[in-house]
Amino acid sequence: MNIKKFFGHLNTVNKHRFLVFKLSIKAGIPIRGFLHDLSKYSPVEFFEGVKYYDGSVSPIKICKCENGYSKAWLHHKGRNKHHFEYWYDFNSPVKTPIIPYKYLVELICDNIAASLTYHKNDWNPNLQLNYFKNRKDLEYINEDIKKLLIEVYTEISKKGINEVINKQNLKKLYKKYVEKNR
Ligand SMILES: [Zn+2]
Repeated sequence: MNIKKFFGHLNTVNKHRFLVFKLSIKAGIPIRGFLHDLSKYSPVEFFEGVKYYDGSVSPIKICKCENGYSKAWLHHKGRNKHHFEYWYDFNSPVKTPIIPYKYLVELICDNIAASLTYHKNDWNPNLQLNYFKNRKDLEYINEDIKKLLIEVYTEISKKGINEVINKQNLKKLYKKYVEKNR
């Protein structure tokens, strides 16, 4: 085991969780923020992260490139409701159900934290929207959730993170797009 990689990966996970926690407080979901990504400390996720640690690219991405799949990711997405992939079930009548409010807000905080980390010096407010629009699974994402996220990320590109990520605004948008037909 490479000790540098071990602490490098541990540091990445801790830093990411702290950034998500800070955003989650702004967004009004501190408990979700505190519990965010805890499964990354489980052996199956953690040691794959150490093995493929690189410092600038996600170890899951590197592992997928080398092996065709990542056990850490399969473990992670099965346990973390803030991922679209947790909810996908292509054998069900509803293939991509609505994501409950608190997990959707956690997903937004997670995505912002990730792009802030990977674009330390060249982050710009349009990144979030571009990232989202380039998702490979865009066609599968629940239509109402998709509309909501496009509005959130468009708002960020116009007003910045602080104006958009707050409880009042996010609740309003969830009501507008998700709770409207219930
Ligand atoms: Zn996660």
